[in-house]
Amino acid sequence: MTTMFEFLALIGKPTRNRIDLNTYYGHTFRCACGYTHIFDTNIEVLCEGYWRLILSCPVDNRFITNARARMILIQEYGGLAAGYGACINNPTDQAELHTFMAAVLNG
Ligand SMILES: [Zn+2]
Repeated sequence: MTTMFEFLALIGKPTRNRIDLNTYYGHTFRCACGYTHIFDTNIEVLCEGYWRLILSCPVDNRFITNARARMILIQEYGGLAAGYGACINNPTDQAELHTFMAAVLNG
């Protein structure tokens, strides 16, 4: 678990979700909340980094996870490897995430 500031800095250059998520549906990911979730259409994708998906926890949306899109074969992708996560602990975290997301959506 990292601080919100560190978490957002580590995403690198985020973009809106562009990759085909169908590849990843049905796979699991280790969430920052401590549980493993199945990635499906109920999971909100906040944004995309370089082969990374920034996911909101479906159980407790204070938790966000950076899940690496794991390469299995050169042209076949699947699985979301454990990444790292952060938790919205206070109004400052909330404001940082809000500012970050506004930049992604406007960028
Ligand atoms: Zn979770």
